[in-house]
Amino acid sequence: MGKHLIVIGGGAAGFFCAINAARMDRSLKVTIIEKSNKLLSKVRVSGGGRCNVTHACFDIAEMSKQYPRGQHFVKKSFHQFFTTDTIKWFEERGVMLKIEEDGRMFPVTDSSQTIIDCLLKETNKYGVDILMNREVKRINAQRSMFNIQCSNGENLDADFICIASGGYPKSSMFDWLKELGHTIEEPVPSLFTFNLPNHQITKLMGVSVEKSKVKIQNSKLEEEGPLLITHWGLSGPVVLRLSAWGARELKIRNYELGIIINWLPDYNEESLRKKFVELRNANASQKVINKNSFGLPSRLWEFLAEQSGIKNEWRWADLPSAQQNKFIKNLCNYECDVKGKTTFKEEFVTAGGIKLSEVDANTMMSKKIPNLFFAGEVLDVDGITGGFNFQHAWTSGWAAARAIAFSSDVRRET
Ligand SMILES: Cc1cc2nc3c(=O)[nH]c(=O)nc-3n(C[C@H](O)[C@H](O)[C@H](O)COP(=O)(O)OP(=O)(O)OC[C@H]3O[C@@H](n4cnc5c(N)ncnc54)[C@H](O)[C@@H]3O)c2cc1C
Repeated sequence: MGKHLIVIGGGAAGFFCAINAARMDRSLKVTIIEKSNKLLSKVRVSGGGRCNVTHACFDIAEMSKQYPRGQHFVKKSFHQFFTTDTIKWFEERGVMLKIEEDGRMFPVTDSSQTIIDCLLKETNKYGVDILMNREVKRINAQRSMFNIQCSNGENLDADFICIASGGYPKSSMFDWLKELGHTIEEPVPSLFTFNLPNHQITKLMGVSVEKSKVKIQNSKLEEEGPLLITHWGLSGPVVLRLSAWGARELKIRNYELGIIINWLPDYNEESLRKKFVELRNANASQKVINKNSFGLPSRLWEFLAEQSGIKNEWRWADLPSAQQNKFIKNLCNYECDVKGKTTFKEEFVTAGGIKLSEVDANTMMSKKIPNLFFAGEVLDVDGITGGFNFQHAWTSGWAAARAIAFSSDVRRET
């Protein structure tokens, strides 16, 4: 009789673990238990319905820098299964991926359904059982077996368990895992946008700047990249990255912080002042608000000029030094106060989860309970946007599968 693996959670990590374990050890009985009536629901909505499967980064050290939490952990686990393996795995199953300019990788069909169909086909191929509408409430770890209790009163026995239940927004939702003796890093939101309530700049909603630098005052947090002004505040990759790197720090500050924006990050106030001397000479007879030599969106240029007290009719030659200095400051060091956050589509990811020092990064096995494995977002690993979270889901699912297949006796295939 083959051994039984129960995977808890029918998301990306759970499916990847179940399929690969069943494939590598054909004698293994594999069951996925999912609490909802939906499978792979985050895969479906991810990447705007296109599923940003991974990121075109082929260097482990470089890739691991994209994880605000779990950097050292993924640096080890990526040696088991990396981006190149993800691309190959899907290609071998007829799913071709393409690279976008910013490095994000999507199925060429631009549809997450392609990924879902592929994963479902593989579960059928390898005879993985799927039980839905069952929430696992408790795991009893007996000597060499586990007993799982589900919300519908059902009890199931397993030789191996892989917990791939995703992230939870509240610490209490991890209680059933704490009962196993594992420590939980408190969950906090990551990947959110900044609120600037009643701030004048929100009049510019829809304006975006390709390159900006945003610094959080009284902190080391600083990021450079595209910035978007919304009707509630600030968004765009630079803000999402700050929110990910600062997830814990910003929570402690109750999301009330001063920020400084450099709209022209190639300059600081000193170098911009020198540039202004050139501009005054070259554009002496032109109106300041009309002559934006930096390629900033004209609505933003006009807004910053107005905030600096520059009148519409003023020409470069007439620009008084007080207003010029204010304008230079607003261009390089524009200060505003953030009060609150807006979560990005129900929080893209939650930071926090199973403490990483209690899990082996090569096998995903618990260091506390043998034959208990973890995969995906339930671990205290989270990446910035761009396909990094799914890569961790594939990697950890695969590493757990391999370790399970190789510890349960029989014939195996990698
Ligand atoms: C809107 C959105 C868009 C995203 N886009 C991207 C993207 O483009 N690229 C990227 O890399 N990442 C993206 N992410 C993040 C990515 O989706 C997650 O990191 C990834 O899905 C995590 O996979 P997982 O299998 O660990 O968890 P999940 O996908 O959350 O799956 C966990 C499953 O476990 C089930 N479950 C939970 N508790 C129990 C229990 N007790 N018993 C039984 N079942 C249980 C849940 O119902 C769920 O189905 C996005 C996230 C969101 C919300």
